[in-house]
Amino acid sequence: MKTIIEPFKIKVVEPIPFLDKKTRRKIIAEAKYNPFKIPSKYVTIDLLTDSGTGAMSTAQWAGIISGDESYAGARSFYKFEEAVKSTFGYKHVLPTHQGRAAERLLAQAIIKKGDIIPGNTHFDTTQANIEISGATALNLPCKESKDLSSDYPFKGNIDTDALREVLEENRDRVPFVLLTITNNSGGGQPVSMANIKVTSAICKEFGIPLLFDAARFAENAYFIKLRENGYSDKSPLEIAREIFSYGDGALMSMKKDAFGNIGGLITLNSDEWIEKIRNLLILTEGFPTYGGLAGRDLEALAIGLQEIVDEEYLKYRIASTSYLGKHLDSLGIPVVKPFGGHAVYIDARSFLDHLANEQLPGWSLTVAMYEEIGVRCCEIGNVMFGKVVNGKYIWPDKDLVRLAIPRRVYTQSHVDYVIEGVAALAEQKDRIKGLSFSYRPEVLPHFTAEFTKVGVW
Ligand SMILES: *Cc1c(COP(=O)(O)O)cnc(C)c1O
Repeated sequence: MKTIIEPFKIKVVEPIPFLDKKTRRKIIAEAKYNPFKIPSKYVTIDLLTDSGTGAMSTAQWAGIISGDESYAGARSFYKFEEAVKSTFGYKHVLPTHQGRAAERLLAQAIIKKGDIIPGNTHFDTTQANIEISGATALNLPCKESKDLSSDYPFKGNIDTDALREVLEENRDRVPFVLLTITNNSGGGQPVSMANIKVTSAICKEFGIPLLFDAARFAENAYFIKLRENGYSDKSPLEIAREIFSYGDGALMSMKKDAFGNIGGLITLNSDEWIEKIRNLLILTEGFPTYGGLAGRDLEALAIGLQEIVDEEYLKYRIASTSYLGKHLDSLGIPVVKPFGGHAVYIDARSFLDHLANEQLPGWSLTVAMYEEIGVRCCEIGNVMFGKVVNGKYIWPDKDLVRLAIPRRVYTQSHVDYVIEGVAALAEQKDRIKGLSFSYRPEVLPHFTAEFTKVGVW
């Protein structure tokens, strides 16, 4: 059979709202042109994020009922711990309420002022947690990632020559290296096993631990299976275990590749580091056997972690994302290639090439997507990563719009609707005149920033 179908059937449905364009224009104006401020009841197709938005399985819902809510030593914790150990293989496991809690604990316990944390590309909250500790979040994406339209299969790789240089010059200032798999901010692109092996060898040479930001480890593992020599016969779980065998620990937002609506973890080999982190965890997240989660969450996450490496699921997941990408590409929309695992990224500077960086092309496109077709998506570019230094803006390398696909939520006809809508928008894209900040907070500006339209559109 040629058609790759959803490897599930639908048992529970949730209606989606339909609004007219006039109403949507009013709603986004009231939201100060920030899609994060739109109540979801006004969004027809929500591609803002794949984080915590997935649909749980019947097994996970059954787990919710059987979750053990004991304060200490809950049965659900041991199930969680076992699932994590079986996937990651590290000695210690601590649950956290989500990924950024794990980042915050690690940063607070381990990172000192003046440190440098090199990585392929840090995720926004990771970068913010590193920077708030007075350290530098250093992105060293591979050279191939700069060309947004090439077909290079592992654009998530870290530039290992640049990493070596940084470690030679700053060995004492680097507490660990962090590889994000897949590379979310870099376009949802995978990191190859070869790149992980070299990174691991360099880290060992300098005596520096290698950690993974493993939010989408299963998608990364499946890309390795599809694209890297020697892995086509291995299962996604075997590949994931091999990835983690080259490192010393991992952080994870379990709202991604664990089918969780909430949850995160930190898993490490180091006794010394885990003790510091555990003490902080108790202070702000909770007792180490629940870490800010309910027993039912731990139960659902343990099951989700096993479901995510199912090959039929990953095959459908990667195929359905590239279905959206291929169709947008064939319409002449500039999209990052190859297509990522969880999302398709539109290159907004190229799509809205009549707009200057100051007019925030990516953000403007997200506003137009909502106004015109009721689709909510997320800018990963000028607003999210732009910096103000001495009163002047420094723009990031890329200004992307991410169409993130929630796991097991939308069907192919939902995606067809998005494709048709973007096609219609492309025909009148020159009408989009851009935005400017009316409020820009210091930290993670995209969540709460406000904007005004430049001109009438
Ligand atoms: C989502 C994400 C995080 C942060 O996790 P939250 O659960 O949203 O706090 C960190 N790193 C990556 C790569 C992510 O995708």
